[in-house]
Amino acid sequence: MTEIYNKVALVGLGLIASSISHAIRRGELANEIVGYSRSNETREKAKALGICDQIYDNPKNAVKDADLVILCVPVGAMSDVVKEISSEMKIGSTLTDVGSTKRAVIDEVMPYVSDEVLFIPGHPIAGTEQSGPEAGFAELFDNRWCLLTPENVKNHELVRLEKLKTLWSSMGANVELMDPDHHDLVLAVTSHAPHLIAYTMVGVADDLRRVTDSEVVKYSAAGFRDFTRIAASDPTMWRDVFLSNKEATLEILGRFTEELFALQRAIRTGDGDLLHKYFTRTREIRRGVIEAGQDTDAPDFGRVKR
Ligand code: NAP
Repeated sequence: MTEIYNKVALVGLGLIASSISHAIRRGELANEIVGYSRSNETREKAKALGICDQIYDNPKNAVKDADLVILCVPVGAMSDVVKEISSEMKIGSTLTDVGSTKRAVIDEVMPYVSDEVLFIPGHPIAGTEQSGPEAGFAELFDNRWCLLTPENVKNHELVRLEKLKTLWSSMGANVELMDPDHHDLVLAVTSHAPHLIAYTMVGVADDLRRVTDSEVVKYSAAGFRDFTRIAASDPTMWRDVFLSNKEATLEILGRFTEELFALQRAIRTGDGDLLHKYFTRTREIRRGVIEAGQDTDAPDFGRVKR
């Protein structure tokens, strides 16, 4: 593979940044990768893993001369970081992010981006419940979607957009452009609301643990086990996701609550037909996800043990 960027700067060195570094190295897509993380602990871990050629304790130094800067911090932290780095960014460079929500990030980041820098918001729909640089791996983006949500790209900036698309596809992802508000609604359905439901279910089980002693953990069935996996996701990241995608998440949760009440009523009134029809429809959706290559039909959901 040929090099796409000369120097890439990763701001934040957690799971996603580390996976980007591994994927760039796998494809030899950049000449140099540098990084910044705010804590000494994460910087030391990243150094030991060798995921960057150079690691800085100051984001300004990390972004100097970089052709591409990728923001890999929680969405609530992005604007503060951009405020700090914007004056140091190279003229003609590209700024992108990997945040799980898009409208709030655009609104908060754009005021600090200079005219000479092109901001292309992005979101790789790939992740695990693990955090930190040690959790990253090169295959994370393989056959996953990466959604880019640029607005008002001028003709002379299209080359930079194409370059970023090429980087993501060379890292294994399927790239698509999407309107940011539409992105937030789609992700509220496919990711944000399901995470909140998992957090709630595990919370309910934990409350119940006092009644059932430790049986909830001991006899964990597949459904609950998968909920606990999702509910183990990073608290900071997910707090920021809900606070920055409030409207769409609340809209979906409203619909979810209505459906839940309908199913609750069907159970109470013994309406087996309704339940059977409902579950037949949802089973089809699961088949669709597998056919689209977004999961496997292995009994353990094909989760790779790492
Ligand atoms: P992570 O493993 O927890 O790493 C987070 C990084 O951000 C660390 O370098 C951390 O620094 C830094 N950070 C945290 N709070 C900060 C703050 N207030 N100011 C400056 N830096 C801060 O997170 P991740 O899973 O890679 O997620 C990074 C981004 O990717 C998030 O925006 C998330 O929405 C998005 N994303 C995540 C997933 C997923 O499944 N995890 C999937 C797609 C997109 P220290 O460790 O030095 O404190």
